[in-house]
Amino acid sequence: MQTRPAPLLIILVGVLILTTSCTQATSTTQNNAEEKTMNEPVVGERLALSDAEWQKRLSAEQYKVLRRHGTEPAFCGTYVASTKHGPGLYRCSGCEAPLFTSDTKFDSGTGWPSFFQPIEGRVGSKADTAYGMIRTEVHCARCDGHLGHVFEDGPKPTGKRFCINAISLKFVPTAKP
Ligand SMILES: [Zn+2]
Repeated sequence: MQTRPAPLLIILVGVLILTTSCTQATSTTQNNAEEKTMNEPVVGERLALSDAEWQKRLSAEQYKVLRRHGTEPAFCGTYVASTKHGPGLYRCSGCEAPLFTSDTKFDSGTGWPSFFQPIEGRVGSKADTAYGMIRTEVHCARCDGHLGHVFEDGPKPTGKRFCINAISLKFVPTAKP
């Protein structure tokens, strides 16, 4: 009697590789001083693009965070340290709308750029119950791009901590006189 070889048991181990490598947003701090002639999007004006258009317009990492509510690894993004980049404006990296000013930024120690207050009318919020947590998601009011979350443990005067993915931001330094 011929013995058949024992069936080879192939165990497929799904190895979840957490890509914790930092994908830096392209540095835009050079040659990018605020231009006075720039057409500022008006508060309340909306930018609605199709999913395909966003994919074309954004880098893969930006798309993942802004359009798919991803979170970049802590201490990886630019703009984490509050004072490093000097005075300026933090714009939405998806649509350029101004979101935060540098004078509302603080070091939260979390590894994500943090602000205690957005520019009025520029940041929207909604309840986020993903991952079994009750959090408040914040997004660009113009393009709905996901920015991060807001927590109630921030500094004075607002007591808020807007914890933002650096990749969702584009810093534009204040033009030197
Ligand atoms: Zn936007």
